Amino acid sequence: MANGLNGTSLGGYGREIYKRYHYTCVYCGFDGRVFDNWMQLSIDHIFPRNHPRGADRKSKENMVVACRACNSITSRMEFPKNATREDILREKRAKVAERRKVFYDQWSSDVAPSYLERPLPKLRKQAT
Ligand SMILES: [Zn+2]
Repeated sequence: MANGLNGTSLGGYGREIYKRYHYTCVYCGFDGRVFDNWMQLSIDHIFPRNHPRGADRKSKENMVVACRACNSITSRMEFPKNATREDILREKRAKVAERRKVFYDQWSSDVAPSYLERPLPKLRKQAT
């Protein structure tokens, strides 16, 4: 299929993985089935490049679905040499849960008071 998406995970190598995980982030449960959400999905490698088992990182068992936020939150984590796949998934989920709490507090104070249950202000028409 020459649609220009072969080099991307959404249009190329990740398609089978997304299907396997029902287009859902394994860390936060983000539902990627509708178009704009689907665009926010990415492939996460459980064993990172710098891990002894990272050589195997392109195996299908090492790839899971993560939303871009969770992929970013977990991107710089390091794991002990003897960590199992389940250990890493557990640690990543814990870190995501912890960071979500912090982000939620900020959203609650910055965004929610101004925008919840009120119409969005009109966007200014852009000059063409
Ligand atoms: Zn997520």
